[in-house]
Amino acid sequence: MKCPNCSKDVITFWQWGQGINAFRYDCPHCLEPLKANKATIMWFVGVMLWVLVVVALCIIVQKHWEIEETRFRSFLFPISLVTVLPWVYLAWKKGGYISRRDTSEREDNR
Ligand SMILES: [Zn+2]
Repeated sequence: MKCPNCSKDVITFWQWGQGINAFRYDCPHCLEPLKANKATIMWFVGVMLWVLVVVALCIIVQKHWEIEETRFRSFLFPISLVTVLPWVYLAWKKGGYISRRDTSEREDNR
């Protein structure tokens, strides 16, 4: 994700994936106050829905094959990692920031 002000890379995938800085962040290079653009928020919502689908599918599979609860839980994490992580990466890759000073793409709750 690049800064709209200085067009340098703002945040690594790892930092971004931890979620704390995903939506509001200051550019470390030019200190421009940034926020996630609409594409990023759409991607985020999409990934969240996908997580729900994956969890639902896992529960269906567990019930269907009557997999033991503790055994099932040990599978759940790697499965969600493999199915969700590529999308989180895409969200990071496709998403972007806009300046918080920029009013051309205003948030609805302001
Ligand atoms: Zn910058």
